[in-house]
Amino acid sequence: MAGSTDSSKEIESEEWIRPETLAEFVGQPKLRERLGVALQAAKARSETLDHVLFSGPPGLGKTTLAAILAREMGGRFHSTSAPALTKPGDLARILTLLEEGDILFIDEIHRLQRNCEEILYSAMEDGFIDFILGEGMSARSVKLHLKPFTLVGATTRSGMLSAPLRARFGLHLKLDFYDEESLATIVLRAARIYELQLSQTAASLLASRSRMTPRESLRLLRRVRDYATLARPQSIEPGFIEQCMTSLGIDTLGLNETDRHILHLMAERYRGGPVGLRTIAALIDEEERTIEENHEPFLLRIGLIEKTPQGRVLSASGRRYLGLDPLDAATV
Ligand code: ADP
Repeated sequence: MAGSTDSSKEIESEEWIRPETLAEFVGQPKLRERLGVALQAAKARSETLDHVLFSGPPGLGKTTLAAILAREMGGRFHSTSAPALTKPGDLARILTLLEEGDILFIDEIHRLQRNCEEILYSAMEDGFIDFILGEGMSARSVKLHLKPFTLVGATTRSGMLSAPLRARFGLHLKLDFYDEESLATIVLRAARIYELQLSQTAASLLASRSRMTPRESLRLLRRVRDYATLARPQSIEPGFIEQCMTSLGIDTLGLNETDRHILHLMAERYRGGPVGLRTIAALIDEEERTIEENHEPFLLRIGLIEKTPQGRVLSASGRRYLGLDPLDAATV
């Protein structure tokens, strides 16, 4: 897939482009309002913010919001991810180092191991952890009190979170895909930081190819910047964006080669489905998680595929997109 993996330098550049305040965070109006109320109320009472759970597909701003919360609350930001927490001791150590008002951000929290999750229960609810020191006969339980902190969890699969963990979050906030106007605003802000002359119409066109996702819009902008570095246009206009998109294999819906590969495979090999995720992953030589997190949500969102208990199926729109006669649907 053209340019799908960013280099570490680009991830760094994603870092310095992150908005720093809730006011700078574009889109998600309902979520911003709810979060704003919780933030202001906590500040007015001089309390720490209640624990927050963000859910939604990758690249929509969960990590960014967590960092914004730390800044707005005046606490430090500690970031980790569930797959990195292999032992309960790792998590216990992080928790005991937190100062009052700090934010602990755990990405992919649905992947937390059971024994780590259990440590979080008392930490989140009662502000202490019970820890077993030593082994065998000499093992003893130690109770450690924690300073008041806010846990911010992020998940792309909120359905996979256990009920006890979910219940300990006071705020459950779901991020939606972005509209074109919000994405264009994000693109224009980033273009200013990159010192690129990008017209409003060019920004809107780029936004329309961005899978309703800020991370994708910024990734495409960085690719456009590459082309602009070489071609040196006076200003970047829609025609230039079109050329870049063609060269990157991004079509008018924002689909890339892998998306199209998935759709063609479903149509041609499986007569439109149902087909299982594992089969698709094996056939296109991608990880199941990559398909499930980076490709499917958008294909589902724009209605090209549907999910059924038997597997994924190509929708009537999906067939139309591939140029197949929708009337063939029943026989496909
Ligand atoms: P997630 O944690 O949901 O995968 P991130 O918070 O890492 O997503 O966001 C990906 C990129 O998109 C970051 O560079 C971030 O600055 C940018 N971004 C996401 N949402 C917004 C937004 N609402 N306004 C401005 N930039 C955003």
